[in-house]
Amino acid sequence: MMHWSLKRQSSWVQLAGHQGNFQVSKGGEVLKLYSELEAKCLDSLMRDPLRPFVPQYYGLVTRGEHCYIRLEDLLNGLRRPVIMDCKMGVRTFQEEELVKARTKPNSRSDMYQKMVKVDPSAPTAEEHEQKGVTKWRYLQWRDTTSSTSTLGFRIEGIMMEDGSVQRDFRKIHSLTQITEALLYFTRSQLDTLNAYHSRLVDLKDALRSSEFFRKHEVIGSSLLFVHDHSKASVWMIDFGKTMPLPDSKEVQHGIPWVEGNREDGYLIGLTSILTALSQAISL
Ligand code: ATP
Ligand code: MG
Ligand code: MG
Repeated sequence: MMHWSLKRQSSWVQLAGHQGNFQVSKGGEVLKLYSELEAKCLDSLMRDPLRPFVPQYYGLVTRGEHCYIRLEDLLNGLRRPVIMDCKMGVRTFQEEELVKARTKPNSRSDMYQKMVKVDPSAPTAEEHEQKGVTKWRYLQWRDTTSSTSTLGFRIEGIMMEDGSVQRDFRKIHSLTQITEALLYFTRSQLDTLNAYHSRLVDLKDALRSSEFFRKHEVIGSSLLFVHDHSKASVWMIDFGKTMPLPDSKEVQHGIPWVEGNREDGYLIGLTSILTALSQAISL
């Protein structure tokens, strides 16, 4: 368990991602290192029914040598916030990454080592013999080690009000375990659980009417759950790997992924979270 309280100059805290990607800014903003894909997504999202579910986007700013995306700080004004980052979808790699990986069928010993560390029985006999796996194989295997490929999301991390951070949710596989994690995260507070549930029901409606959602492969994006003693809300964040689909193509987000259909399973994840929240509320 890690303590962030010393590092925290303001209410701002970063649960996932590379530390160097963010800068705290004044006036209720955070700065995230610029990526063209993410800036384009945020631009469209500001003109979409999803706007109320996304941190407000204020354009770009240069600091030193780097360009940053200016975002609303979702922790602004909260006292001792409690935060959870859930990475959405049944896979965390883009189809494009998979296609690229296939063009490089070389055997990777670094990925083999990572695989064996998590599950010594995961590699095939041939892979064991080569002491290597292809990136193509590794990408697809990795999401099966968490709830990503089955429940359509995984908990990346939770920060409690004392600033302690937990990230050991990667091995969770069942909805019951998710429900337990939600009870821990909310300290079983019914008000908080209900507020999250109704916000997510509203999000589901907005997703249904969103053109942005229909026309994007949403990969590696998170729902950020944030509450304090008086408020609870959920936000869509992290569009660094969210890709626009070719002109006529649309995705449903709720059906299984097979390579080529670009489906991301975002709604499978959202349904799992809603089910786990309902279970937590009824306990
Ligand atoms: P990765 O791709 O590894 O998930 P990333 O570098 O793309 O990370 P994000 O996922 O966008 O970064 O954000 C990382 C963390 O920073 C989040 O888990 C959250 O704790 C915090 N964060 C991001 N955006 C905001 C925001 N607008 N307001 C408050 N906190 C934020
Ligand atoms: Mg992220
Ligand atoms: Mg990201």
